[in-house]
Amino acid sequence: MRYIIDHDLHNHSYLSPCSRGDSRQTREAIFAYGMTNGYKLLALTDHGWDDKVDDKGARGWHANTMNHLRENLPLPQAKDLKFILGCEIDMNRHGIIGLSPEEQENFEYFIISVSHLNLTHFTIDPEQVGSDAASRKEYYKMRLHMVLDNDSLPFHKIGLAHFTTGNICNADLFGCISLFTDEELREIFSKVAARGMGVELNFPAISYNDEQLAVILRPFRTAKECGCKFYLGGDSHNPEPFRTRKQNFEKIIELLELEESDKWEFVIRMIESLGE
Ligand SMILES: [Zn+2]
Ligand SMILES: [Zn+2]
Repeated sequence: MRYIIDHDLHNHSYLSPCSRGDSRQTREAIFAYGMTNGYKLLALTDHGWDDKVDDKGARGWHANTMNHLRENLPLPQAKDLKFILGCEIDMNRHGIIGLSPEEQENFEYFIISVSHLNLTHFTIDPEQVGSDAASRKEYYKMRLHMVLDNDSLPFHKIGLAHFTTGNICNADLFGCISLFTDEELREIFSKVAARGMGVELNFPAISYNDEQLAVILRPFRTAKECGCKFYLGGDSHNPEPFRTRKQNFEKIIELLELEESDKWEFVIRMIESLGE
């Protein structure tokens, strides 16, 4: 059976700095987007940094503590649409993940964005890592393995956010992704599959040309071959992208030929628990 679009596990409210304080981007607006599209599961994933975690001098989203993110509670619910509170968590340049073990337990779900290399001084030291494709690729690869080799993370409820976001290398994203060998991608995604971590899908399939698509699809096809499971996460910060979100998900599913059996277990479990 073809992969069913019944969820979106990456959404930002106005609490996220990248929403630029867009007062329209409320929990109600996100919920309405979910209802309109007939989804069964939504997650709110604002950026944050747990104030119980010592950043060792690499500051990021510190204005957004976990208690601040909880100001969005209670989230609207319907009998056929579950809306959960998650968060989008970074690993800073010292390899510190901004969510304490206690909060990792409190949150039903969260995503780790290893790929936010646009956050100069927070996730990356510009004196150590260049902005060119080769430097960014090596640094990104190292960070991915750092997360995947961490034995204490609850991977069954963690999503690997936007593997091919432009934030990895604003100078040359396609060049940077192309530098990963098939073997390197297999090494990464075999670990992701073994950990049971979900792989997020949201690359702009409807905007890329064929050449760009070929570059961007390769990692995800490799992930599929390695047995990874996928979830959809639009990463909307404002209401406008909601209009084309489902159309883009359709295109991704078509390109990757995804079946229901490719869906991340976390999504299946959450949807099964609807109405319990
Ligand atoms: Zn992100
Ligand atoms: Zn995001």
